[in-house]
Amino acid sequence: MSSLNSVGIGVMYPELLGTYGDGGNALILAQRLRWRGVAVELVEIRPGDAIPDSLQLYLLGGGEDGPQALAADELRASGALHRAVGAGAAVLAVCAGLQIMGDTFVGLNKKVLGGLGLVDAHTTTGAGARRVGELVATPSAGLACDGKALPVLTGYENHQGDTVLGPGVAALGHVTAGVGNRPGLALDGFHVGRVIGTYCHGPVLARNPVLADLLLTWATGNTLTALDDATCEQLRVERLAHGARGTSEKGVRATGRSVKRSLGRIGRRLR
Ligand code: GLN
Repeated sequence: MSSLNSVGIGVMYPELLGTYGDGGNALILAQRLRWRGVAVELVEIRPGDAIPDSLQLYLLGGGEDGPQALAADELRASGALHRAVGAGAAVLAVCAGLQIMGDTFVGLNKKVLGGLGLVDAHTTTGAGARRVGELVATPSAGLACDGKALPVLTGYENHQGDTVLGPGVAALGHVTAGVGNRPGLALDGFHVGRVIGTYCHGPVLARNPVLADLLLTWATGNTLTALDDATCEQLRVERLAHGARGTSEKGVRATGRSVKRSLGRIGRRLR
């Protein structure tokens, strides 16, 4: 892709795929472009809208099972994301978005639904408590922004689905706190070409500005000037310390049990 002075970013179905503030990823990308004097156009796509296939970057966020299935139906019917990815567009897909990019995921009433098949990955309903809490991952060695390895990724996860990657699909990172794709695997997300998937909300690009810059490098075809991310670094230090303190799988299970106990107590009081 040749270098660009204006970047088009597709914000896919913000009402369906916008839980946990993932819409913030678009704001982070737009501001980081403006700071560098690059024009940006945020294109919000709503159900029923035609999806442009000529944008440089597409964002898919988290969502509940019903809205997630609606978004997947629209995207599959349009075929625009397939064409855009085929032409070299970058994608950031978070949680429900990640699941949609794969071959199958689970919708309402445990129905197995078809994803977009852009990534060899399958999502099933995980056993036990939802995977909720801080998520920390060391990025795969294969990912670098301007020749530099990506710093540790920090995010917040909240999902029931468990995702298994096909052979040859690289994870985005190795999980050191939290669950990520599936208990026992210690992997988060995937990266395939310019398509990145992660279970990290946060929004993930607010917590990980170098990941934002990696996407922007792909989208602009340019090396980007450095920005002062000192304030963000403070947030990262605080969040990474919080993650290290105890949202291991054991911690997540314990949180699930204590939430269940509290709900039980509330239920008994209401009866
Ligand atoms: N509905 C999906 C799940 O629970 C995705 C959740 C989300 O995007 N936070 O696995």
